[in-house]
Amino acid sequence: MSSKVKVYTEIENDKLGIGIKVIDKKATVADLLESWQPLCDDNSMYKKYAANNYAMCKGCTINCCSSAYVIPDIISFKKMASLFDNDYNRFIKDYFQTDKVKNGLLRMQPEPCIFLKDNICSIYLIRSLICRFYICSDLLGETEQLIYSITVAGISATHLFAEQNGLLKHNTSSGMTSMDKMFKELIEEYKNTDRTKAFLQATEYSDIPLELFL
Ligand code: SF4
Ligand code: SF4
Repeated sequence: MSSKVKVYTEIENDKLGIGIKVIDKKATVADLLESWQPLCDDNSMYKKYAANNYAMCKGCTINCCSSAYVIPDIISFKKMASLFDNDYNRFIKDYFQTDKVKNGLLRMQPEPCIFLKDNICSIYLIRSLICRFYICSDLLGETEQLIYSITVAGISATHLFAEQNGLLKHNTSSGMTSMDKMFKELIEEYKNTDRTKAFLQATEYSDIPLELFL
């Protein structure tokens, strides 16, 4: 656990929620991830879908990976593509949902996620922020907002990178769900922000200051 970011629980609106406190102003997204990771292994905290509501994520039979809507952030996207010799076009064709790509959305093939093998994530160490942060527990409002803004900035950077490199050739709106539309709007909203720029310029999560999101 990073000493720069502390994870704690507190009652908010009559519910126990998970919160984070940034201790060091120089903390990065990597520090947040390091402190967040132990929540998956925590069996003392209420998890809506865990066995008897108190269990580690490992071995979960509901497994959020079966239904997750995953759009990778740029750091994860590039690391995953490196497994395919950085052939971005092939990676997108083989691992992303074709109709969503036509909508201009890089959603990985779902239900279950294409990287779920024998109920285990086959790319665990390089999985996306959306996967790393998801936990079926209540979060404190400010923490939820912080995680949300980091994740959306990373996703927006992926789409900017894809557009700049001619990887998204279509942008139709046919067949879009309300979730697709919400993501598209958020991607546009975040595109020209310093947060998204920081993701685009970064190689690792440790290159991105948390301060940008506070
Ligand atoms: S976060 Fe996912 S894996 Fe963990 S208990 Fe909830 S549904 Fe299961
Ligand atoms: S990338 Fe891994 S953690 Fe994320 S949804 Fe797929 S299998 Fe689950």
